[in-house]
Amino acid sequence: MITKKNKVFILDINWIAGQSLGTSRGTDFNFPSLHFDPNLTLQNFVGKVTTTVIEDGVVLRGTLTAKTELRCTRCLEVFSRPVEISFDEVYSLSRTKEEVGIEERPFPPDGRIDLEPIFREYALLDIPIKHVCSKDCKGLCPICGANRNKEDCDHSQERIDPRMAKLKQLLDKD
Ligand SMILES: [Zn+2]
Ligand SMILES: [Zn+2]
Repeated sequence: MITKKNKVFILDINWIAGQSLGTSRGTDFNFPSLHFDPNLTLQNFVGKVTTTVIEDGVVLRGTLTAKTELRCTRCLEVFSRPVEISFDEVYSLSRTKEEVGIEERPFPPDGRIDLEPIFREYALLDIPIKHVCSKDCKGLCPICGANRNKEDCDHSQERIDPRMAKLKQLLDKD
């Protein structure tokens, strides 16, 4: 959800009229924090989108970086992860919407491209569904729930399969 004050995400490419092939222009982006929707907030959003005139339209090349806060799926702690937003998008003048292939988008009739859905799409592509704070994250103890990265509960030596933990608890009672 980009609000009015973020209209900078509209890239006006009307300047390309009459330009020769290969002419390009860069647009810089720099935002301390961007709230796309409840599930996607990016910090330190910095980078550039370069528009280059091609035979039947433009190609937009985006190279941006940001950070996002995620909750580790193993230990449930919040951590900050870098996000790379990198894309090449072709906007074709000569083709209608129906003819445009998956890798091309129709040229906007008013010469204005809304970058917000593109930024969002490529940011989400870079964020794995299972996000782990570090590949060595030890997660939570399946028995007492302690964060094994922070404390050593007595259970950590036993290396119990979490599925077996309940069974072992029952057997230990006997
Ligand atoms: Zn973790
Ligand atoms: Zn434990």
